[in-house]
Amino acid sequence: MSAEFFTLENVDEAGARAGSLTTEHGVIETPVFMPVGTYGAVKSLSSNELRNTRTQIVLGNAYHLYLRPGLETISKAGGLQKFMSWDGPILTDSGGFQVFSLPKLTKIDDEGVTFQDHIDGSTHRFTPSKVIDVERSIGADIIMNFDECAPYPSTHEYASEAEIRTANWAARCKERFDATEPLYGYKQFLFGIVQGSTYKDLREKSTEAIRALDFDGYAIGGLAVGETPDMMYDICGFNASLLPENKPRYMMGVGKPEDIVECVARGIDMFDCVIPTRNARKGTVYTSEGKLNLNNAVYKTDSTPIEEGCSCESCQNYSRSYLRHLFKMGETLAGRAATIHNLHYYMNLMTGMRTAIKENKFDDFRKEFYQSRKSEANATITEEVVE
Ligand SMILES: [Zn+2]
Repeated sequence: MSAEFFTLENVDEAGARAGSLTTEHGVIETPVFMPVGTYGAVKSLSSNELRNTRTQIVLGNAYHLYLRPGLETISKAGGLQKFMSWDGPILTDSGGFQVFSLPKLTKIDDEGVTFQDHIDGSTHRFTPSKVIDVERSIGADIIMNFDECAPYPSTHEYASEAEIRTANWAARCKERFDATEPLYGYKQFLFGIVQGSTYKDLREKSTEAIRALDFDGYAIGGLAVGETPDMMYDICGFNASLLPENKPRYMMGVGKPEDIVECVARGIDMFDCVIPTRNARKGTVYTSEGKLNLNNAVYKTDSTPIEEGCSCESCQNYSRSYLRHLFKMGETLAGRAATIHNLHYYMNLMTGMRTAIKENKFDDFRKEFYQSRKSEANATITEEVVE
């Protein structure tokens, strides 16, 4: 079954890959970017608006959905797709990252993690088999292993402990997955997650252990957590080279447009990140020339759209001047319009890369990507937004 799940269509001379993932909710063309819908919604967008951005697959957070609204509500609705009225594919992360980063009190042992809800303080416990049960109840097409994401920086000793626990938990996740059935009548695919922080020896060890369990796909976890871009690209390329050719590769939590381009160049197929949607709500928008902050005074009377020639609903209707005004007034349309544009930009970036890879022109695409951005960096005053 897993051979049919992923089809590798072309590997560019540069090493970038184009492929497709076949799920019962649709085919996903890769490289793909997955917008984050933490609580079962990509913040401020309807399912139709999401579809219009050409979003192919949405990411839901198992940790958040387990706590609110809870599994009973999602199960009664018939799974997350029906609950949120999204008929396309969904991927859920395992909650591993959130369990280690959000709660105040987290107790890790070899069997699992005991944590307190970061909002109401109630105590919960995640074990590998519990997390698989949670992800079966949510019902995403692609589900992730429960892993331990070591923070950056971590000592080699701690990163090694987390790597060993991740490998042990991966075996238990796989065992539970194989012993249970999907709850809503369509197949789910399980991805393993490789850890090892920024240590190449641990990346090798982790990849070997996770690969041995034969997952439907492989994720590179534990990056984009504070290391430098060069370090991230280096570990990404190193780790990707250790993964099997015939399975999808997912770089978790990445990222900025340039990070995505660099990781695609290193053989990654799938991405997720809150950057385009979270930043949109604060006024930062992405264009082929670079990013702009619409709160900036230079846009006060700028009658041009966010990006000239962009076919998104926001650029077809609104000027930078109008959107800046909406941001200043706190109008909810501001963040929504910016979100629509940013996702449109990200989806364009992905399809542009895919076309280039299929034509063996990825290097040209990458050069043009940086050339068009350079001109903007000098011409516009941009205001940094915390990411
Ligand atoms: Zn646009």
